[in-house]
Amino acid sequence: MTDTLADSRTSSRTFVEGVPVVVEDVRRRPAAERQAVLADPGFGRHFTDSMFLARYRAGEGWVDARLTAYAPLQLDPSAAALHYAQSIFEGLKAYAQPDGSVATFRPEANAARFVRGAKRLAMPPVPEPGFLAAVDALVDADRDWVPTGPDQTLYLRPYQMAVEPFLGVRPANEYLFLVIASPAGAYFPRGVQPVSVYLSEDYIRAAPGGTGEVKCAGNYAASLLAQEQAIAAGCDQVVWLDAVEKRYVEEMGGMNLFFVLGSGADAELVTPELTGTLLPGITRDSLITLARERGHRVTERRFSVEEWREGVADGSVTETFACGTAAVITPVGEVKARTGDFTVGDGTPGPLTMQLREALLDIQHGRVADTHGWLHRIG
Ligand SMILES: *Cc1c(COP(=O)(O)O)cnc(C)c1O
Repeated sequence: MTDTLADSRTSSRTFVEGVPVVVEDVRRRPAAERQAVLADPGFGRHFTDSMFLARYRAGEGWVDARLTAYAPLQLDPSAAALHYAQSIFEGLKAYAQPDGSVATFRPEANAARFVRGAKRLAMPPVPEPGFLAAVDALVDADRDWVPTGPDQTLYLRPYQMAVEPFLGVRPANEYLFLVIASPAGAYFPRGVQPVSVYLSEDYIRAAPGGTGEVKCAGNYAASLLAQEQAIAAGCDQVVWLDAVEKRYVEEMGGMNLFFVLGSGADAELVTPELTGTLLPGITRDSLITLARERGHRVTERRFSVEEWREGVADGSVTETFACGTAAVITPVGEVKARTGDFTVGDGTPGPLTMQLREALLDIQHGRVADTHGWLHRIG
């Protein structure tokens, strides 16, 4: 290991045709410092030694792909993303495997969603193989940062933003694509706890024709006030309703929702259908597959607040949970709304919620056979 910054080499990985991934010699923090971070990483607070960066210029395409030291960016103060939010991101994780290797979970699905996001924001897409090569290169370079504690992971954040210095409103001519990595602790270090949720009747997350189905930065800025309102009402999370009738349940914060009808082997799952205003979660898609394999019927359809409330009251809706990459599955307990509060089940995590959570975690952490080809080993 060396402390010099000057050396660089061309790796065998290619970002896009004719553009190899250049690997700079990055200064590595000492093992003791790394271990101190990995002992209690939290979420999104610590970053690894390297980052991936590539540039796009109209006329040239994607150029200058490199693994370089994690460091502040220099941006022109007029960079377009800072003004008009032409910016998208992804979130996925790398998991230490029992055999000592490292794997990501369904990164091809993130790559495809990133392309859809870029197109919606009138940006040049990162070709899917380039996205995968960038993520692999970063995890490979910083594999010492993949934590091995229970339910610990390395969270990966690919993102793309417009950096052309220009204040006119039109798609920019210059972009950056970056991938950064952050070690993440167990989401529920003291055991899985149901969250309380607040139905947002004042604000909406996404409207038909808007950007709800892509991970664009502006969606999250617009969600913060509703989340604050949920916290002020004594809840953990906001639940979004459809923008038109404010009647159908869409998502919880940045996670998709499932409702369990009935119980035991005959339990059925309902998840809000992808109408264009919901984010198509990769966790959601994986859980639909796992639940069906276990013999449960899964229906994607609209699900109203009345159906939720009445189902809880008459006992037909037995469990509710949210899902996403960060938390995998989070049970929903108390529900607060201006139209009246209710509690799902007895307020503790339901059995199907916990079974599906374990089933997915077992695959991700390599504790059971990966029969779906969902793990992507990084060699
Ligand atoms: C990212 C995200 C999800 C979950 O997607 P996963 O691919 O499962 O992580 C759900 N809803 C919103 C709004 C999101 O941003």
